[in-house]
Order: sequence, then C-alpha cells, then structure tokens
Amino acid sequence: MSIKQLPPHLVNQIAAGEVVERPASVVKELLENSIDAGSKKIEIDIEQGGLKRIRIRDDGKGIPKEELALALSRHATSKIASLDDLEHVASLGFRGEALPSIASVSRMTISSRTEDNEQGWTVSPQHRDDGAEAFDDPEPTAHAKGTTIEVRDLFYNVPARRKFLKTENTEFKHLQEVVKKISLSNFQIGITLRHGQRNLLTLQPALERVGADRRVSEICGPAFMEQSLYLDYEAAGLKLWGWVGLPTFSRSQADLQYFYVNGRIIKDRVVTHAVRQAYSDVLFHGRHPAYALFLELAPEKVDVNAHPTKHEVRFRDARLVHDFLYRTLHQALADVRPNEAAESAP
Ligand code: ADP
Ligand code: MG
Repeated sequence: MSIKQLPPHLVNQIAAGEVVERPASVVKELLENSIDAGSKKIEIDIEQGGLKRIRIRDDGKGIPKEELALALSRHATSKIASLDDLEHVASLGFRGEALPSIASVSRMTISSRTEDNEQGWTVSPQHRDDGAEAFDDPEPTAHAKGTTIEVRDLFYNVPARRKFLKTENTEFKHLQEVVKKISLSNFQIGITLRHGQRNLLTLQPALERVGADRRVSEICGPAFMEQSLYLDYEAAGLKLWGWVGLPTFSRSQADLQYFYVNGRIIKDRVVTHAVRQAYSDVLFHGRHPAYALFLELAPEKVDVNAHPTKHEVRFRDARLVHDFLYRTLHQALADVRPNEAAESAP
C-alpha cells in the first residue's frame, strides 16, 4: 500500500481506541467536561448499563452556538492555548479529544445554552455511509443554562469494539465506580445518578465538613466513616487531607483506595508505595488499607500529560512526595490510641 493521509473520522475512531474503552470512560470524560465548565449540579441518566444511552446534563457555563461544531472537532479545546498553559493546567481536560472521539463511535447529541443567550442550540453529527461525519447547522432548542450531552449506541459502528463490552450489569458497575470517584473529589457539586427507573445516588452539594463526611459515608460506606480519621496537613508546598481508615478497618482487597492529585483521581506507584509503607507496621500481611486522600501541590510540580486517560501522573520530585506522604500518614496512624488501632478485623 502506498502512504495515504487517513480521513478525519478514522483518525477520531483510532483516538477513541485510547480514550473510550466502555460506557464508564464516556461518563468520565463527560463528567470532567461538566466540572471544567463550573457546574454546580450534574444529572446522570443511564439506560441499559450505558450501552443504550448515557445522558449527562449540567448547569455549567454552556457552549456558544458558534462553538458547538468546534467542540466536536479534534484538538479543539477552550482550556489551553500554549505549552505554558499545559505546564500549569488546572482543568481536568485539555487534549480536545474526548468529544470528537466519542462522537465518532456513537450517536451523539449536544444541546447547550450559555448565560447570555435566550435559547439553547443542539447539534447531532451524522455518520454517512462512507463513515465520514456530517454536521448540520445547530437547531434551536429549549434548554436551561448549561449543557446536555447524550451518547447512544456506543460502538454501534465499530463491531470489533462492541464485542469487548461486557453485560449491562458489569458495564454499569464500572460506570458507577467512575461516578463515585468523581463525586468524592467534587464535594461542592450536587450529583444524581439514575439507571433506568432507579435513583441510585443523590448527593447534595457538600460545602462543609459535615456534608463532606456524609458524602464519604454514602460512597465509602458508614463503617469506613466510623473507623477512619480525618487529617489535614501541609508542609513544603504540599498539602494532604482526607480520610484514612484505621487499621481496624483493613480490607482483604485494595478496593477502597481513592487518591487524588489536584482533584484528579490517579493510580501511581510512588503513592501506593508510600501509603503501604506507612501502614506496614499496623496492618497484617495481606490486608489492604482504605482511604480517600487528596494531595494538593502547585500544578507545575506534577505532569498530568503522561497518558491519554490521565490516570497516571509524573511528579517532578517523586522522592519529596513519597516522603511527605509516608511521614504524614505514619504520624497520623501513630497518633491513634493503641486500643483504637486494635487488631485487624477479618
Ligand atoms: P477538552 O476537555 O480536552 O478541552 P473535549 O473534547 O472533552 O476536550 O471538549 C471540547 C471542548 O468542548 C471543551 O474544551 C469545552 O470548551 C467544550 N465543552 C465540552 N463539554 C462541555 C460542557 N459540559 N460544558 C461546557 N463546555 C463544554
Ligand atoms: Mg474533556
């Protein structure tokens, strides 16, 4: 074969392979967009585990009519404009890839209204028979300030990907886990989750500690809330706060471990190692700690552009972060009275 430039829809579908694995990944990208838009309330409506329909409605700043088509084009973002911006990025998104990728492998409709507009506008890219995408002009629609994005029939046009999707139940579990992770790092946002006719999560905005405790209890369970301690510590430009499970609340699996860096959920070896080490004196071998922890540091001290899904980060000074986490947690656990740090429950 001779060398040919790939058509844009194919480029989008290839990119979708990196960002969109399953309904849960769509929900993650859409929620991050709603959060970046400054939303105070987000409603998530799911049908058939997200395979049939995902609809996310927010009350954020909205997308102007003239930018609707742009939002759907590749590498179009309102969040960064230069390399310098990238190094200081504080928003969750910045690649401008999610919407075009998702749109290329589903039937998507975007409706949105900005504050200074009396009405909303809606677009729905069509896939032609040759695969290319076609946009009609936006149509007027009734919409409150904010954005609604609906994603139907994920992978309907990519049978090879659709095959890898699991049952509705399994897909919904993944999706629910994403909603939990995001709810934990955005206490100020009210979030609801519905699956078919069922209301699964109704979280009020939590502006104070009590509200935050209630949300943690709702998401991590009341037992965790009762058997955890709250910490809030700052040193050398690093701040760590959140809830750490007492040794009495250890788990047989590492299934209750939420760690955020500047509001972004991450999985990182430096972090996992530091936490495990801090617990090593107080937990039995084979038991896992539970925690919901938030690390905050200047954005330029951490590189979030390490992976398309942004689950991984690179700390500029990994050693400093490791030692800070280890010392802070070790101290917090050592301060617990010995009778509270009783033997691990099975
Ligand atoms: P990124 O988030 O990396 O910028 P996306 O493809 O996810 O890229 O979104 C493209 C652009 O569309 C965003 O930069 C933003 O301007 C706009 N956008 C997407 N979702 C929303 C939303 N819910 N509210 C307001 N603007 C949005
Ligand atoms: Mg985005």
